[in-house]
Amino acid sequence: MSVQDQLRTLYTVDRQLQALRSRVDAAARRLAATQTRLEQHERQHGELADQLKTAQAKVATQENEAASVEARIEQLRQTMSTVRSNKEYSALLVEVNTQKAEKAKHEDATLSEMGDVEELQLRLKLLATKTDEQRALVEGAQKEVTEGESEISDQLSELQTQRDAAAAPISQETLDLYTKLIDEFDGEALGEIEEQDRRRMEYTCGACFMSLPIQVVNATLTATDRPVQCSSCQRILHASPDLIDALLPKEKK
Ligand SMILES: [Zn+2]
Repeated sequence: MSVQDQLRTLYTVDRQLQALRSRVDAAARRLAATQTRLEQHERQHGELADQLKTAQAKVATQENEAASVEARIEQLRQTMSTVRSNKEYSALLVEVNTQKAEKAKHEDATLSEMGDVEELQLRLKLLATKTDEQRALVEGAQKEVTEGESEISDQLSELQTQRDAAAAPISQETLDLYTKLIDEFDGEALGEIEEQDRRRMEYTCGACFMSLPIQVVNATLTATDRPVQCSSCQRILHASPDLIDALLPKEKK
């Protein structure tokens, strides 16, 4: 078997492997996307929870301030009940009123902070629902991947065996070239020689459509150890069995 036939066999198996994996790959991409979204929700949830803690701490601070002012007012009132002079009494009354205003300020602040707390609690609740929904999507996508992988696993291992057998007779150097081209051309490592006009010896590379000299076509058909590459796109050239039959004298095959 010529090297181009060996590569052709390998290529056919690789295309089948690629098609088989593509469905699971698509599911894996969906899984990754849903996971990213879930992580965003969880991060946002953490941020909101921190904000809530801060807001709750502010409420507690304002409440404590109001309570200590209240205690101070109570103390002033007790003092007021013991004083004898009007002057002293009036001074204490002014102080009580000042403290009352101070207390009202803390109470207003408490209310406003409590509004923030409630808003954050509501946002957290909504986000928790969204996060649960997203978690269900991740689980669904995960299931799809797992099921897909198990569905293709038998076929995959069978094709892998075929691939190993197809690759076995090919030299490492050629395999390395093939692998490089597979990566470079997204799986399309080979270009099939296309006959445009046999009488005028016009042939093109089926991958990049550039014309191929007849010498390159002949070299491809007779190559035994090293593959022949398209001089334009560098893909490995191969010919269909029909074209080989048509062009190659029987004794050379
Ligand atoms: Zn080409």
